[in-house]
Amino acid sequence: MKTHAAALLALLCIGAFAQEARPPWPEGKRAAVSLTFDDARPSQIDTGLPLLEKLGIRATFFVSPRNMEKRLDGWKRAIEAGHEIGNHSMTHPCTGNYAFSRSNALEDYDLARIAGDIDAAQQAVHRLLGVTPVSFAYPCGLKFTGRGRNVRSYVPVVAERFLLGRGYMDEAANDPAFFDPAQAMGTPFDDMAPAEALKLVQDAARQGRWVIFVGHDIGPRRFQSVDSATIEAIAAYAKDPANGIWLDTAGAIAKYLAQKRGQEHNSPFPER
Ligand SMILES: [Zn+2]
Repeated sequence: MKTHAAALLALLCIGAFAQEARPPWPEGKRAAVSLTFDDARPSQIDTGLPLLEKLGIRATFFVSPRNMEKRLDGWKRAIEAGHEIGNHSMTHPCTGNYAFSRSNALEDYDLARIAGDIDAAQQAVHRLLGVTPVSFAYPCGLKFTGRGRNVRSYVPVVAERFLLGRGYMDEAANDPAFFDPAQAMGTPFDDMAPAEALKLVQDAARQGRWVIFVGHDIGPRRFQSVDSATIEAIAAYAKDPANGIWLDTAGAIAKYLAQKRGQEHNSPFPER
């Protein structure tokens, strides 16, 4: 009798756990995938937009306003095509250990300065393209200001302003039941073979996760450039309903998860 009760209890626990662990994706979907590209590089317009249009998929572009200004017509076309424009800061501050960032190093920043830089980018995107980004990508994936005892995380600055803060060079996909939207993991896919990217998507489907791919240029596979064939392979895999992949912009998926979370806690989704 006692053994039966224990067995029943164990079954109930497993049942409850399985229910809780079931990923929150829409019906028929087992994982989410987003393709994101940083810095507003010209190849994203010249090669990326026609490719994405041909494949019928949407992506997220985390733009650097100074690059964006050089190709405004292209970025307006991207918005018309349904792509998402995200904030990538105004001046792209990274650690000064990168030579390109020595004169604009996060080590020399404080929270007020990084907030000002992010807000300047937000205003520039709004003024030039007429949209208000809900997603942010940390330049170089770095999330600090200052040095030593004065180091501060600027994740809260991003959390106050955006639905999503995306990292870079991270080694896992996001678990929708656990991840922090203010520092979502970003998986690099520059210079990645199609088969390798597909394996990451399949792993995510097994685990119910959200892979946010991060690339820079689009065209031939090389340093900081995503192979068109890799994008084609991901799109083809996601197109087959049997694979259960929801491929959409980072902002669309972040918004869906925020709404889900709001429903779970029975609280209205905050307007942004
Ligand atoms: Zn960047």
